[in-house]
Amino acid sequence: MRQKIVAGNWKMNLDLNEGITLFNEVAAFIAQDITGSQQAIVCSPYIHLSALTALAKGNTKLSVGAQNAHQAESGAYTGEISAKMLTSVGVTYVILGHSERRQYFGETNELLAKKTDTVLKHGLKPIFCIGETLQERESGVYFDIIKQQLVEAVFHLEASEFSKLVIAYEPVWAIGTGVTASAEQAQEIHAFIRKEIAAKYGQAVADGISILYGGSCNPKNAPELFAKPDIDGGLIGGASLKARDFVDILKVFN
Ligand code: PEP
Repeated sequence: MRQKIVAGNWKMNLDLNEGITLFNEVAAFIAQDITGSQQAIVCSPYIHLSALTALAKGNTKLSVGAQNAHQAESGAYTGEISAKMLTSVGVTYVILGHSERRQYFGETNELLAKKTDTVLKHGLKPIFCIGETLQERESGVYFDIIKQQLVEAVFHLEASEFSKLVIAYEPVWAIGTGVTASAEQAQEIHAFIRKEIAAKYGQAVADGISILYGGSCNPKNAPELFAKPDIDGGLIGGASLKARDFVDILKVFN
């Protein structure tokens, strides 16, 4: 059985105290409500990571992730954070390729391939985001775009390394817009992604990879989305800032 995962992306929200309060609330709701083997991940801003990994110690249901990492090992990159720094504070996951990083910080598939190599080398698990813009969906090229993102950013990996990835399908037009892909639209793309993985790495690898849906996912629409056979959970932005909503989404897998 594939790992069911709900990951929260706090983006650039919450000061340290607010973040600790939210994380403690999430942990308390998980302890109270979660009966299955699903995994929660909170991807916070860097400033929170040390405190949150200390709070998550020994918690088998709740892990901590970062939202980015630099591709270089170390050096003169003012303001950046390396993969080694992340592992040194106990982080286990890192979001790579989020559409906001692609759009506002110019991250390309080529750069993301380097970032993926570096974070894997340091034992981090990438939550690798792919997805089409509204224009790409409307012009009908979205399958090509998604395939290109996979081929250029992660299909250079050996199967043993690729298997450590979590893939997040996030249609850009659904992120933070309140517009969700229908469960059928999401399933269609998730099945396509899994088919492409199977063609490249074989069915066993494809069957083992968790593919998350992201884009205005909330406690109301999560049950229908997560009922689809190729949707293994969600990457949650806005709703991850409310402990009750986040854990209610996770609860769908009870
Ligand atoms: C995201 O940014 O990864 C995301 C899915 O955001 P939201 O849930 O707010 O659409």
